[in-house]
Amino acid sequence: MKIDKKFNQLSKEEYFYFIDNYKKYSDFNTLGLYRSICENENLELNDQIEIRDHANTVFEKTFNFYQLKDPKTYFDLTTLGLELTVADERQIWSDIRVNQEKILSDKKIKHRNFGEYSKHNCGHEDCPYNGIMIKQGSSLAENSMHFKSDKNEVSAKKKSQRFKKQRKNKHQIIQDGFDD
Ligand SMILES: [Zn+2]
Repeated sequence: MKIDKKFNQLSKEEYFYFIDNYKKYSDFNTLGLYRSICENENLELNDQIEIRDHANTVFEKTFNFYQLKDPKTYFDLTTLGLELTVADERQIWSDIRVNQEKILSDKKIKHRNFGEYSKHNCGHEDCPYNGIMIKQGSSLAENSMHFKSDKNEVSAKKKSQRFKKQRKNKHQIIQDGFDD
């Protein structure tokens, strides 16, 4: 069966349904699902959080892997609704960096596939993404534009719109790394 509907247009109920029945749908794409949560304008912040948490009950391992495969999506989702200071954001990126290393060494793919990834190095010493491994050509890759944290002023809703805009501009993030 096919879902035949864009994830970012689903209702909360539909998300739950498709997550619970994902095996029946040949076009179900886990990363697509996760990415859509922040982009879906039908969803309130509470819905986004509930969907994320529900998806994680099923796809937790896969989701953790996104720290390497698509760290921006991972960051956006894990911080939904949180009021983050700059220091908080730095801490989260630092944790992601540590977890990336862990994922790579657990998977014993340190050298084999590392060529696809490069470490973010924009030259700004205090950049929170420094050392984050990013798939080449992705949104946080070296030299790509990134944004300053705007502390607590921006509501989560605005934040997600901002991310959406950025995503559009950047075309796509990561196609297919290695599957979990
Ligand atoms: Zn940077």
